[in-house]
Amino acid sequence: MRSAASVICSLGHVATTAELRLHGVSPGAVRGALADGAVTRAMRGVYVCAHADPDQRTATAARCRITCLSALRRAGVWAGLDRSLHLQLPPHAHGDRPSSDRNGRPIHYHWALPRFPDPRERSWLVSPMEAVYQAIRCLDEENAIACLESAVHERLLTVDEVRRVCARAPARLERGIRELEFTAGSGMETIVRRRLRHAGYTVVAQVQVAGVGDEDLLVEDCVALETDGEKWHGPDRFHADRDRDLKTEGLGRRALRLTHDQVMYDWETTFLSIKRVVDDAKREQARRFGRVILRADDPL
Ligand SMILES: [Zn+2]
Ligand SMILES: [Zn+2]
Repeated sequence: MRSAASVICSLGHVATTAELRLHGVSPGAVRGALADGAVTRAMRGVYVCAHADPDQRTATAARCRITCLSALRRAGVWAGLDRSLHLQLPPHAHGDRPSSDRNGRPIHYHWALPRFPDPRERSWLVSPMEAVYQAIRCLDEENAIACLESAVHERLLTVDEVRRVCARAPARLERGIRELEFTAGSGMETIVRRRLRHAGYTVVAQVQVAGVGDEDLLVEDCVALETDGEKWHGPDRFHADRDRDLKTEGLGRRALRLTHDQVMYDWETTFLSIKRVVDDAKREQARRFGRVILRADDPL
C-alpha cells in the first residue's frame, strides 16, 4: 500500500480526506503520517506534504482553489503582468478571507462555480479550461489572446478546448479570437505579431528557414524578429542565439532580438527601432532588385 505522503505528493502535494480514502489511504495511515511529521493538516480534512508551496497553503487555508492567472503561471502559460494570487470559491461561500497573502501580495477572489470541471482539477486547483475561462476575463485583450495561444503551445489545452472556452468569451474579445493563430512559440511572440500587424506590417509567424530553423516572426519579408521569452534567458542560450542571428544576417535579412522588458515596458521606443530597421531593410532590398524609386528628399 502507498504511504499517505506519497499519495498526497501524487495529487500535487495537497489532498482532502475524501481523496485519500479514494486512493486507499486509511484514517490510521493518515494519523501515522501526521505523527511522524511527513504530512501536516492545513485545515480540517485537508492535508499537505512538505513540498506544498506558499500559494497552495494560502489557497487551502482560505478554502479556495488556485485559478485564473495563478493557475496558468504554474503551467508555464502566458498570464500577463499581474502577479496577484487568483483564488476561486463557490458564489455563496461565507467566512472572512484575507485580502493579501503572507508576503503582502494581493489576493483576487473569483466567486464562481466551475463551468468546466474535468478530471484534471484538484481540491486546490481548478481545471485547465476553467483557469483559462477565468483568465481571459481578468486580462486585457492582447494578453487574453496571448494566453489562449500560449495555452495550446504549452499543451495545457487542445485547440478544440480553446474553441470551447472561446464560445463563452466576453464580446470584447471577438475580434482577437477571430485572429487567433496557433503558431506562436510564446505569449510575447503573439503580442509582438499582433501589434505589428495592427500597425500595418505584413508579419509571418514561424517561418522555416534552411540552415536557421524556425524564425519567430518575419516582418515585411526582410527582418527576422526573435522574442526572448522569460524562460529563455540564461547563458546556455547565448551562443545558440548569436549563431542564429549570424546565419539570418548571412541570408541577407536583418535580425532583431527583443527582450520581455523591451516589449512589455518600453514598446514605444522598441517599435520605433523596429520601424527604422524594417524601413532601411526594405529600401536596401528594393535597391538590390532595382525597383527603388528615389524621391528628391530621400537620403542616398
Ligand atoms: Zn509532495
Ligand atoms: Zn483572475
